[in-house]
Amino acid sequence: MSQSLPPADSSSQLCDADLTALNTLRLPARAHRLARPSTVDELAQVLAERNPAEPLFVIGEGSNLVIGSDLPGLTLSLAIDGMVQVKEDDVHVWIAAGAGVHWDDLVAWTVTQGWQGLENLSLIPGTAGAAPFQNIGAYGVELSQVLEQVTVLDVVTARVEHFAADECEFAYRDSRFKSRDRGRYIITGIELRLRKQPRCDVRYGPLQAAFGHLPEHEVSPVAVRERVIAVRQSKLPDPAVLANAGSFFKNPVVNGAEADALKVRFPDLVAYPQPQGVKLAAGWLIEQAGWKGKCLGPVGMHSEQALVLVNHGGATSADVMALADAVRADVLEQFGVTLEQEPVLLP
Ligand code: NAP
Repeated sequence: MSQSLPPADSSSQLCDADLTALNTLRLPARAHRLARPSTVDELAQVLAERNPAEPLFVIGEGSNLVIGSDLPGLTLSLAIDGMVQVKEDDVHVWIAAGAGVHWDDLVAWTVTQGWQGLENLSLIPGTAGAAPFQNIGAYGVELSQVLEQVTVLDVVTARVEHFAADECEFAYRDSRFKSRDRGRYIITGIELRLRKQPRCDVRYGPLQAAFGHLPEHEVSPVAVRERVIAVRQSKLPDPAVLANAGSFFKNPVVNGAEADALKVRFPDLVAYPQPQGVKLAAGWLIEQAGWKGKCLGPVGMHSEQALVLVNHGGATSADVMALADAVRADVLEQFGVTLEQEPVLLP
């Protein structure tokens, strides 16, 4: 990864550590203490030495974070490494990765092996450990579809636990780790089940256009990954170049009647029927509200993808919140739809 991080080492806990390189929005903030354990044992040791009453924060590469102010207590940035094949049968291969593995390194490795399942999730910023936290998704595929289990350290009992995918309470960009069990478990590793023969999901527009005419067995994960990377690079800002935290709002889901009423007023409305309702493209709503490429102080909504809030330099969390509030208010006023923030707000 491109950003410079403090060294991974359990014994050195940095005091008053600068977190600017540990959040891709590049918001200035400091951690009272920062540790970067590189094994589960080191993590357990850091936790054992901690006063249980002090606040605890866990961050990956900070690609889905808004750091609102300095973080009190202990902040952990996991550096647990390793990608291995665990087992295989005729159809599947199971692989394990440490929480600190850079997500796209994992995707690249599996795709190069010819294994299928992660290609649509290419180039998503962040770590393998952060992936289940918000059930990362792109181009019609969510992590939950390939996840076998998550390994965690229970902060309360100090025990290592495993959660099967169906115990993780996955939903759209959500999991029990992000919602009801927030702060209880530290994800130390993930295990995924991938296919040895390709059956790529190419339903989304850019993939359909490139591969829709081909029989399933001729669509390789490598080709899909290359296409996803090309599309993402063409419209999504690289956080190493223009600070951002990916999609800033979730795509809102409304009921069928609301969607029908909106469609009458806005015939171009971008909407996708889902089992739970109708998903609206938040980027389209923001663009229609006039915010695409528009700035408020040092922050703005990106000129190619209005869903991405960018920091043009020198922004504070107050600038981010002021823009997010303004965008949310305009979308609510114009469409009667409330946008929910996707990145996690700390502390
Ligand atoms: P896009 O192609 O401009 O599409 C806009 C929205 O419409 C997407 O958010 C997507 O919802 C939805 N959509 C498009 N085609 C669809 C289909 N065939 N069926 C159902 N829904 C469809 O989106 P984009 O910004 O370039 O992003 C492409 C993909 O990468 C999306 O899946 C997006 O979620 C993902 N992405 C995620 C982040 C993040 O930070 N979480 C950042 C960038 C991109 P979904 O979002 O539900 O797929």
